[in-house]
Amino acid sequence: MITGKTQLLGVIGNPVEHSLSPVMHNAAIAKLGVNYVYIPLPVKPENLAASINGFSAINLAGFNITIPHKQAILPFLSEVSDVAKAVGAVNTVWRTPNGWAGTNTDVEGFLAPLHTYNRNWQQTSAIILGIGGAARAVVAGLSQLEIAEIHCIGRDINKLEAFKQSWQNSPVPVNIITHTWEELNALIPECGLLVNTTPVGMYPKVEEMPVSGEQIALLKPETIAYDLIYTPNPTEFLKAAKQAGAIAIDGLEMLVQQGAAALKIWLNQPVPVDIMRDSLKAALGLKN
Ligand code: NAP
Repeated sequence: MITGKTQLLGVIGNPVEHSLSPVMHNAAIAKLGVNYVYIPLPVKPENLAASINGFSAINLAGFNITIPHKQAILPFLSEVSDVAKAVGAVNTVWRTPNGWAGTNTDVEGFLAPLHTYNRNWQQTSAIILGIGGAARAVVAGLSQLEIAEIHCIGRDINKLEAFKQSWQNSPVPVNIITHTWEELNALIPECGLLVNTTPVGMYPKVEEMPVSGEQIALLKPETIAYDLIYTPNPTEFLKAAKQAGAIAIDGLEMLVQQGAAALKIWLNQPVPVDIMRDSLKAALGLKN
């Protein structure tokens, strides 16, 4: 029940109406019985500064950040975690005595399902398809695993070069090897982890795959195929990879775990991850 003492949490973005975060956070808040509420906060880019000032004025407890504010929020923060600096984007902000502090829980979210597999990461080679915002969280996560090699695939030579440079100049330098898509066939048989961070295969173009059936057939058995997409669930890519003997991880767990990590920061207590997962599955029409 909302009372005079209810504390506010939320997600800022533009647009924000499709966000699933209110569903999963409010489900966890209800289960815990804590006096918080999590709301969508539509903020246009030109209103970001005014909104942040407003959040301070009304004592908002914390918020998530989605497109297009993940980088633009940085100047408003008095403290930024190393992981967020490395990724170059913030998705979670909380209040401190000195102002707003921020981090990026996508990295923890991405890593959580990988931690359930007992692998020798230091001898594993990974391929990341795509070099956009989500790929940055994946690179930061894989570098925390001390994975042997990180091969990043992009379609634009200039963007590939800029991506590589950004990691060499990062507060947490990471060695990545960049390639165009033409080089993928030679890399696939050697990899132990193949991550799709492109939107290829996402609803509504659900029949598409980021790699071909022939390329999937090149995967070693037990390779982990990880798709950051969570609708559809699973994607055609994951279905084909599983059929070829790979282990499939979909993007739902990353979404759940990045949310759980944020809620843990705001509430400073353990959070019911299962309830968050179930609420998301229900919202997406997936079987529990
Ligand atoms: P983004 O910044 O736009 O990056 C997308 C990347 O994919 C870019 O490198 C882009 O290349 C490449 N790409 C796009 N279309 C392509 C195509 N047809 N063929 C080859 N490459 C293509 O997007 P993002 O924020 O990283 O998000 C990417 C995906 O991850 C989305 O599906 C999103 O829903 C998912 N995601 C999931 C989670 C989760 O919690 N599960 C979190 C974050 C993101 P160009 O730059 O050349 O266009």
